[in-house]
Amino acid sequence: MKMNQYDLLIVGAGFAGAVVARKVAEKGKKVLIVEKRQQIGGNMYEKFEENGVRIHLYGPHIFHTNNEKVFEFLKQFSEFYPYEHKVIGKIDGKLVPIPFNFTSLEMLFEKEKADKIKTILKEHYPELEKISILDLIKHENPLIKEFGEYVFEKVFVHYTAKQWGIPVEEVDKSVINRVPVVLGYDDRYFKDSIQYMPKEGFTKLFENMLNHENIDIVLNKNITEIIELDFENKKVKIEGEIFEKPIIFTGAVDELLNYKYGRLPYRSLDLVFENYHKTYFQPNSVVNYPNEEKFTRITEFKYLTNQEIEGETTILKEYPLKYDANNKKCLDPYYPIINEENIKMYNNYKEEINKFHNIHLVGRLAEYKYYNMDAVIEKALEMSEKI
Ligand code: FAD
Ligand code: UDP
Repeated sequence: MKMNQYDLLIVGAGFAGAVVARKVAEKGKKVLIVEKRQQIGGNMYEKFEENGVRIHLYGPHIFHTNNEKVFEFLKQFSEFYPYEHKVIGKIDGKLVPIPFNFTSLEMLFEKEKADKIKTILKEHYPELEKISILDLIKHENPLIKEFGEYVFEKVFVHYTAKQWGIPVEEVDKSVINRVPVVLGYDDRYFKDSIQYMPKEGFTKLFENMLNHENIDIVLNKNITEIIELDFENKKVKIEGEIFEKPIIFTGAVDELLNYKYGRLPYRSLDLVFENYHKTYFQPNSVVNYPNEEKFTRITEFKYLTNQEIEGETTILKEYPLKYDANNKKCLDPYYPIINEENIKMYNNYKEEINKFHNIHLVGRLAEYKYYNMDAVIEKALEMSEKI
């Protein structure tokens, strides 16, 4: 690699890396992306199964945002179709809307009790469309508290224990609060004003975004094989040569620094895909299993990809587990585990990396944040202005 021909080095071809690459390339700068996987797209990567179904190889991904700038940016690289994601969960043998809403309430409670709960919730929260389950379970009104405790037990306690491998009380509130209780009949999983999916999928969108004369991509290359951090002189070397132009790093910081402060903990998933010779497996794109089963949810991709394929379908079961680089079942670190201790460890790494003026950290791994894709795109757009 002749590094002196590049104005910018990007590590990782997920949204964080690809967005910066495109923006900077459009300004006439030469960009090199180094990606350790054999394909672009990061966790957004999709591919076709032999039966024709387009699957999300790293778990189901649905685009939703309130940020118009983010959507305007993406629309340059794909057509989109409106898609409002809806989830149902198996509770006491019934398939009810998740987030838990008034329909779920009516399906699981006797009419008289359901009416009482709806009335008291409306009295207490006449203006609110949704509320945190953590507020309901500590409410001073006994009926609201009882309702909260029911939903907490049926929807959150066991799903969370499966997903995170620790009791729900030890999981950061921001994680639990991603899924509210809805004070009405809105049955959409996300409440954002913009909810669309790319017509030909995310891989195609990435191909279009990275198809620019100023962008070169090297796949199958872990940056740790060619980067050297010279702490004494505060210089970065690539293949032995000093590289002083900006470097956007979107991978895990502990890997970059050879785990010198220990491994940053992550949750991962054993993703089990199954093909069936039938047109549909389940009545909905995603069915959550908060209580039964070892997996947390089943996704049926055809609902997400808008494909009509007669007699064939593919589903995905997600079995959560601790991330362990040596365990073949969990290929990647997916979810940062947000707590004081881990953030402290992350900050130690960040401080070390900040000693190098030209390394910038962007993305879910590099910032150790539970970002949705729109937040990553927003950060990457900001970064492309900054550098
Ligand atoms: P990544 O996509 O992880 O990209 C980082 C890239 O860097 C990877 O390709 C990696 O191989 C590469 N890399 C890492 N280290 C190195 C190295 N040392 N050398 C070279 N290359 C390296 N968001 C939503 O908005 N909606 C959803 O429905 C949604 N569902 C999700 C479901 C799951 C199961 C998960 C785990 C996440 C989900 N997300 C969702 C979040 C979304 O995946 C992320 O916000 C987004 O993909 C992060 O992009 P990124 O570029 O930061 O990271
Ligand atoms: N959650 C839950 N029950 C559900 C869905 C979600 O307890 O039926 C909790 C769980 O702790 C999960 C968190 O809410 O980790 C966030 O859920 P989300 O669907 O946003 O997770 P992701 O899609 O990012 O895996």
